[in-house]
Amino acid sequence: MRKDCDVVVIGGGVIGCAVARELSRSALRICLIEKGEDVCSGTSKANSGIVHAGFDAKPGTMKAKMNLLGSRMMPKLAKELDFRFERNGSLVLCLSEDGLPALRELYERGAANGVEGLAILTGDEARRKEPNLSDGVVAALYAPTGGIVCPFELTIALAENACVNGVVFRRNETVTDVSRGADGYVVTTNRARIGATCVVNAAGVHADEIHRMVSKTPMHITPRKGDYCLLDKEVGGYVLCTVFQLPSALGKGVLVTPTAHGNLLIGPTATDVEDKENTPTTAAELAYLTQTAARSVRDLPLRSVITSFSGLRAHEDGGDFIIGEAEDAEGFFEAAGIESPGLSSAPAIGAYLAALIAKKLGAEEKADFIPTRRAIPRLAELPAEERRTLMEENPLYGSIVCRCEQISEGEIVEAIRRPVGAVSLDGIKRRVRAGMGRCQAGFCTPRLLEILSRELHRPMEEICKNVPGSELLTGTMEGRK
Ligand SMILES: Cc1cc2nc3c(=O)[nH]c(=O)nc-3n(C[C@H](O)[C@H](O)[C@H](O)COP(=O)(O)OP(=O)(O)OC[C@H]3O[C@@H](n4cnc5c(N)ncnc54)[C@H](O)[C@@H]3O)c2cc1C
Repeated sequence: MRKDCDVVVIGGGVIGCAVARELSRSALRICLIEKGEDVCSGTSKANSGIVHAGFDAKPGTMKAKMNLLGSRMMPKLAKELDFRFERNGSLVLCLSEDGLPALRELYERGAANGVEGLAILTGDEARRKEPNLSDGVVAALYAPTGGIVCPFELTIALAENACVNGVVFRRNETVTDVSRGADGYVVTTNRARIGATCVVNAAGVHADEIHRMVSKTPMHITPRKGDYCLLDKEVGGYVLCTVFQLPSALGKGVLVTPTAHGNLLIGPTATDVEDKENTPTTAAELAYLTQTAARSVRDLPLRSVITSFSGLRAHEDGGDFIIGEAEDAEGFFEAAGIESPGLSSAPAIGAYLAALIAKKLGAEEKADFIPTRRAIPRLAELPAEERRTLMEENPLYGSIVCRCEQISEGEIVEAIRRPVGAVSLDGIKRRVRAGMGRCQAGFCTPRLLEILSRELHRPMEEICKNVPGSELLTGTMEGRK
């Protein structure tokens, strides 16, 4: 089979995009295949957005190593690629004297993992830091290196930068088979057959299915659903740190946190499910999470909830990340079982896998690699003078489309025209936040449809919320006359 690429990356979540971006430092032909209409349309779009300090994973595991390394890499990456990241610190609350040994164990695990600055605070010390903490807090583990990141901005920035550095993105294309030949692989999709020397399996909750196409070693992923409530920016400062409770066997438990964009987020739950595609929230889980979060902070401002959503963790039976070349399939690399702290670990996983693959292929570093990327100007956050200049240069920045988030037509058009640009309403929402505010796109949807239709040269009836089949309009203008 003809070699179309050196490396095919399967999956355009934060992991696939991080691997692709790191690989694009080398002189290699790389393509990334994503079955969604956009990158960041799987688990990477629905999580807590926390860059964990790294005290949770067992010392010596891939989770522990990649988390710590990823957290350390994040500030430089955020500067290079211009996405939001803040070290706001985190607190793990102990709500009864019985929990003190577990809190101490967490502290010791963190110290063994190399996490800097950990401290155990008394309940009063914790409340001085966070005045809205509940009176039931008896002690807390403080981690100053805990942070928050916008998961969409991170993933999209990685994708844009990878694309500028030569990675070909094939969205809306599903890998249906991977077969091994004499000197490489054939990746079959619903649209093409692609020959490649190496394959990277970064297919999230579907990584076990891709794995079984090539390898006989056991791998089984259980989707573990987490429901959330997102609260309005008016209560975004209710807590400053990310506030966890002591973790359980199923995960890190329910947190209360500010988001990178200044909302307040509560969640997630942890329920094992069978369906890997469908992620409805349930009344029972939302009730559980609000009751649980109410134990962390007093007077939880639930009247300010603007939406709920859920995401699926890719829990592999072994419990650790599986990262590296498959034992029985040379050239088949994997990042599987990437549940939390996968977002925090993405920069490290990308660098680790790309280095393995570049070495395997004997690839040289490119002299013309472009390490930086600039975000779309955020009109509402610019000083008045810069705002005026931007509007003079491009009058589209003077027309506000999303009133809740104050997003202009100029930002929306740029989101569409960028490399790996937006092709759907959700794509715009994740790039510039139009539709992300209090009205949840109630007012701006018709304008967004018009702009997408105009920029993509497609009739409005073809514009989707996200996947094909999620078109909002039906019939033609002529038909309505
Ligand atoms: C509730 C919850 C909370 C979390 N909170 C945090 C947190 O605060 N901090 C943290 O560090 N981590 C967190 N995580 C974990 C983090 O979100 C994940 O580790 C990370 O997003 C995984 O990225 P990924 O690229 O592996 O998967 P995904 O983002 O799911 O990407 C995989 C992609 O592969 C595509 N794909 C699948 N099959 C195919 C196919 N056959 N052909 C083509 N494409 C395919 C999918 O469409 C998908 O886009 C959380 C996860 C959940 C669910």
